[in-house]
Amino acid sequence: MSKLTNTKTTKRKYCKQPAPVPRSFDPGITQQRKSFILGSHWKWVNGTEIKYMFIEGPEPQKNVVRRAFKIWKDVGIGISFKEVSTVGESMVRIGFDFTDGSWSYVGRDILTIPKTDRTMNFGWDLTADSYGMTTAIHEIGHTIGFQHEHQSPFSGIVWDTKAVYKEFSGPPNSWPKKEIDTNIINKLPANQVKGSKWDPKSIMEYEFGPKLVLKPVKYKMGIFPPGILSANDIKGVKSFYPVIAQKSIQKVQPKKSTVIKAGTGGQSDFVFIAPSTNKFTFETTGKLDTVMVISEKGKTENFYLGGDDDSGLKKNAKLTLPLVKGRQYLINVRVTYAPASQSGSVIVS
Ligand SMILES: [Zn+2]
Repeated sequence: MSKLTNTKTTKRKYCKQPAPVPRSFDPGITQQRKSFILGSHWKWVNGTEIKYMFIEGPEPQKNVVRRAFKIWKDVGIGISFKEVSTVGESMVRIGFDFTDGSWSYVGRDILTIPKTDRTMNFGWDLTADSYGMTTAIHEIGHTIGFQHEHQSPFSGIVWDTKAVYKEFSGPPNSWPKKEIDTNIINKLPANQVKGSKWDPKSIMEYEFGPKLVLKPVKYKMGIFPPGILSANDIKGVKSFYPVIAQKSIQKVQPKKSTVIKAGTGGQSDFVFIAPSTNKFTFETTGKLDTVMVISEKGKTENFYLGGDDDSGLKKNAKLTLPLVKGRQYLINVRVTYAPASQSGSVIVS
């Protein structure tokens, strides 16, 4: 990595997102079904323990990121974070290449990134001032599935595009037009943002100086989010990832169907205790679109064993895994689309 230098400038550097990983569907999938599926596409299955590792970087920089993970977790959510030390265990890989910008892939796109690559980078000194912590919380926001708030289709923002291109093509960001479009100008589809209202105080909102926004008139002199989680950030993350109540977890018996009690966007959670040390197949049945994740329940942490996503495909989620007698396996099923009057179930055989 590059040597840490003082990157303080009078103007701010901003998060610069990589292009999303393209998503394919089987032919003949309706627009409505695609739209619902994409609404959950970037979100993790609730209950997932997201393993992150640092591939480089000095401890003081890492400590800011560790604290930022804790800030998200302390909100009280159903996903959790655990630092690991090997690439094999990692889902999120964090670097500190100061010659690159700060960015993170969004949500489950991370699982498609080769293990040799980072999924998140910090491009400036996180310990220089409070903007470092803001940056870390923001990038983790992307990691758990949130997109840029200033690109919300509900913002009503009309940019002074000429001024925006001028501002961001110059130092310290020096972005080409394409980066400015994908990170600022382009509006996101409604199903890719949290909530149905723009939240100018969100951690996922950039700060903008004066004379970049034409409308709403109120923001002509700039948008200045406080740089911490807003009330709506907290509400949004808790709604996507509520704490999973122990009593809501259904026990699955071998070879017996157990109903998925969730509609579009919802989730059903199950536990299976292996009756023998053997290979077992976990499957969803029925016409629901689902993402199924299997983890082994440990004493202090859960171990992600695998996941399968049948959304928009003419198949059901299915995973065969070697299990150990007496151990508990969590089956978390996110329903990405439930056609009217259709139900589904989980079966382990
Ligand atoms: Zn960002």
